[in-house]
Amino acid sequence: MKVNRSIGCSVTECRYHAKSEPLCSLDSIQVGKNASSAASEKDTECSSFDRE
Ligand code: SF4
Repeated sequence: MKVNRSIGCSVTECRYHAKSEPLCSLDSIQVGKNASSAASEKDTECSSFDRE
């Protein structure tokens, strides 16, 4: 699996996670927010996540 060394990620449950390294395998990701007005990192999320 190719990895994108510019996108670090610890979400191993995602089908795009590189598994062997804490990296994403996608060329790019979409980051969204789960609050109307993001105030901290907890209010952001990877919208490209897909459960394995
Ligand atoms: S798509 Fe998002 S959640 Fe999935 S491995 Fe890539 S960065 Fe992580």
